[in-house]
Amino acid sequence: MSRPRLVAGNWKMHTTTAEAAALAAAIARGPLPPDVEVAVCPPFTALGAAARALEGSGVRLGAQDVFWEPRGPYTGEISPPMLVDVGCRYVIVGHSERRQHFGETDEAVRRKTAAALDHGLVPIVCVGERLEEREAGRTDAVVRRQVEQATAGLPAERVRLLVIAYEPVWAIGTGRTPTGEEADRVAGVIRDALGRAGEDVRVLYGGSVTPANVGEFSGRPGIDGALVGGASLDASAFIAIARAFSR
Ligand code: PEP
Repeated sequence: MSRPRLVAGNWKMHTTTAEAAALAAAIARGPLPPDVEVAVCPPFTALGAAARALEGSGVRLGAQDVFWEPRGPYTGEISPPMLVDVGCRYVIVGHSERRQHFGETDEAVRRKTAAALDHGLVPIVCVGERLEEREAGRTDAVVRRQVEQATAGLPAERVRLLVIAYEPVWAIGTGRTPTGEEADRVAGVIRDALGRAGEDVRVLYGGSVTPANVGEFSGRPGIDGALVGGASLDASAFIAIARAFSR
């Protein structure tokens, strides 16, 4: 079975509305490979501007986080129907920066993942070990726990719709990466933890991906694309990364 490839850009807390519109338009101009799905995840405030800039382009829109309730007294939060309304198809859930700086737990990740699916969004669930966990030989156990907890209670036909991003925390924004072989091996651990649905789930690699190192990951059978932070703010670098995943 061949899983459709996906390259998604996480713009983090960057871009005003004007900057987002310009970056989205530059990415939409491509040239983008026809066989790789491309998505950008601007900050909430720039989703509308990016959506307008992407109209008719085929580039998908995603958000960087979501709350699990559809509406209500949750000051500062954004719900799944609000993301659908502004044109999102994807939403990043459980990014390590949210786990680290905002105390996001595996249980919160589980609720957000289920709520996103309930409203027709595709969650990009981020998992990955911290440096000390890696050094203690606990990578597989940590990743397995995060995957199992994020998907607890979900039937296989819904798990199948997910995207999982393997993002070792020590590789995010550091210029360091695992080898492609190691990332591919952990992708296998992730699929195993997903059970029956695992072979259908797209697993991305994320962490300091650039045009210079993307070849290390793009040729690996278990890696179906990339979640790109820093390099996604440069249209030509991001396009080059997407093109590297074309078959
Ligand atoms: C990320 O934030 O998801 C990420 C992978 O960042 P970077 O590419 O900058 O390491």
